[in-house]
Amino acid sequence: EEKKFSREIPLREASYALYNPDGVARSLTGEVIKRFENKGYKLVAIKMLNAQRSVLEKHYAHLADLPNKNIFPEVVNHMTSGPVVAMVWEGRGVVEGGRQILGATRPWQAAPGTIRADFATDVGRNICHGSDTVENANKEIELWFNNQIVEWNRGKVEDAIYE
Ligand code: GDP
Ligand code: MG
Repeated sequence: EEKKFSREIPLREASYALYNPDGVARSLTGEVIKRFENKGYKLVAIKMLNAQRSVLEKHYAHLADLPNKNIFPEVVNHMTSGPVVAMVWEGRGVVEGGRQILGATRPWQAAPGTIRADFATDVGRNICHGSDTVENANKEIELWFNNQIVEWNRGKVEDAIYE
């Protein structure tokens, strides 16, 4: 449904973003962070880690249902091939807006100006994950951060971003 007024979109919606090993290896961490910050989203959690296979299997469980049974193990293998950076971002409409910044899953279908269009060519090396729904974002924040996020306030900046 179409939302006419920004105030109808929750201000404190949280999104989970996971920087893939390919994005980390290519030193694009700052590029994604910069784009989320420029938009006005607020970073409320961040860490670098070697992701556990069991966590990735939960995170990517939806890929196990795909007709191509190779994708799920390939994605899990790739995601354990090097460190990832996990982040939680907060802001009005951040789940939908964050996915717009990332662009379509397949980089060749992603709109110019998005991360995946500007920096990726292959679907299995598409730089960064972004939660697709608020419900999944909340599940992912529990899975990756045990709900440990930082409560902080940007002071007057909040009024410069939110009506
Ligand atoms: P996303 O929400 O846009 O990241 O896409 P999905 O949740 O559908 O898939 C998760 C991730 O798995 C994608 O970002 C891709 O990196 C990877 N993936 C999905 N489909 C394919 C595929 O067909 N081939 C490969 N190699 N990777 C895929
Ligand atoms: Mg997804």
